[in-house]
Amino acid sequence: MEKPVFTVGERVEKLCITCNEVRGHVVVSVTKRGQISRVSCPKCGERSAFKSNATTDANAKRSTAKAGAPYDRTRTYRTGQAMMHPTFGLGEVTKVIEPCKIDVLFADRMRRLIHSVQPQE
Ligand SMILES: [Zn+2]
Repeated sequence: MEKPVFTVGERVEKLCITCNEVRGHVVVSVTKRGQISRVSCPKCGERSAFKSNATTDANAKRSTAKAGAPYDRTRTYRTGQAMMHPTFGLGEVTKVIEPCKIDVLFADRMRRLIHSVQPQE
């Protein structure tokens, strides 16, 4: 079996020293061989080196305890809110980019979604 290859933006579970908890981190850089070199904590923004011998079990998807309401693009989200996306599953808002754009960390990777959309008449 080949080692798993990662890409920037994927989610990986790691212990954040600053938050003092294991939580989903976003891969910010990978090596040429697709191994994670640096990750970023979406909660505190701390960037840290990723040691591949730590919690790399990508199959051990830890399900976050808090359930989210279904994703609704007309809603306005705040950082830290959970949602249930029909395609991507449970996600947590990590950042509000622009008034209408949010970054959401799902079980597999970070995705950019729209929110606060005014319903078209
Ligand atoms: Zn953190």
